[in-house]
Amino acid sequence: MSKKIAVLPGDGIGPEIMAEARKVLDCLRDDYGVALETEHALIGGAAYDATATPFPEATLNLCRQADAVLLGAVGGPRWEALDYSVRPERGLLGLRSELELFANLRPAILYPQLAAASSLKPEVVSGLDIMIIRELTGGIYFGKPRGVHKNEQGERVGVNTLIYSETEIRRIAKIAFDIARHRNKRVCSIDKANVLECTELWRQVVVETHKDYPDVALSHMYVDNAAMQLVRAPKQFDVMLTDNLFGDILSDCAAMLTGSIGMLPSASLDKNGKGMYEPIHGSAPDIAGRGIANPLATILSLAMMLRYTFNDAANADRIERAVQQALEEGHRTSDIYSAHTIKVDTAGMGDAVVAAIRGQE
Ligand code: NAD
Repeated sequence: MSKKIAVLPGDGIGPEIMAEARKVLDCLRDDYGVALETEHALIGGAAYDATATPFPEATLNLCRQADAVLLGAVGGPRWEALDYSVRPERGLLGLRSELELFANLRPAILYPQLAAASSLKPEVVSGLDIMIIRELTGGIYFGKPRGVHKNEQGERVGVNTLIYSETEIRRIAKIAFDIARHRNKRVCSIDKANVLECTELWRQVVVETHKDYPDVALSHMYVDNAAMQLVRAPKQFDVMLTDNLFGDILSDCAAMLTGSIGMLPSASLDKNGKGMYEPIHGSAPDIAGRGIANPLATILSLAMMLRYTFNDAANADRIERAVQQALEEGHRTSDIYSAHTIKVDTAGMGDAVVAAIRGQE
């Protein structure tokens, strides 16, 4: 039976990069018989302009019905003066919470062809392949009490609460161990168990969960050391398991190791493996409408969708190999361009990937 993908292009470069992911989808459907159907909906600023809300009911209903969601990006200066409650970003946050997407998967991969684009030495990062698994719906970003109030002395006091239940920790740890099983079978759990009791519990529950995964090696690292190790010797990591706050910071740090934000996909999954897939970058208003954005993060998000929601590793591999081949052939959008390579626009990069898929056995 055909699976349904809700396609939400969003704002800025969103529609441009989504058009290239569509080409890849069409190619898989036409040439390899992959049974996926798509339906488009509005989100973010585009939705606000059309319906006065960044997150229309119709979009939520489509996303609930669909088997997976593919999102471009939201936001832009046009909507920055709006009230916070109707800003484009509310659409994205609403979707994450309505669909209960608690597991955020952010791979940081540096293709050897792009080693020179990283700010670190090529030998430190070439071949880098880390998967950061971040808890997305709990921890200090949601814990209560929170806010700013006045104490008895009349001084303002700010409060946020770091809180995790065993259930929340166990479910994200299981995802990390399951994913590690399909990679290099190593999980490094990040905490600050020497200072924060909540993360001491995090470590205990991760150790308990690990008993069901004797084939996966588990290590632990304090977050300050992890930040240092990410820039000192990042290739030591396979899967990094983190809470919401630490993952937010470490995943951006890992992203920069790879040189361009235009290359990195992400997934956010619910407890049944249904997911929302999106590039990690934003709507890039500075280059929107010029046809020069890099579509590879979105195309690689589609590959993640096939792998994690549709359990179709063969076609996920097919897309990832084609991206690698397009890079190997020298195709580069301007964000990753260097001397002796071929500068292509957004559509040119999409075409190169499709041609590489068609050229495969
Ligand atoms: P951004 O990621 O949009 O852009 C940062 C820089 O990277 C820009 O110079 C941009 O041109 C470049 N860039 C981004 N994606 C690229 C691509 N695919 N190819 C080539 N270059 C690319 O971040 P920003 O400028 O801080 O934010 C712009 C808007 O996007 C804001 O409204 C912000 O709120 C929103 N945003 C949305 C998301 C999302 O939808 N998930 C994430 C981050 C930011």
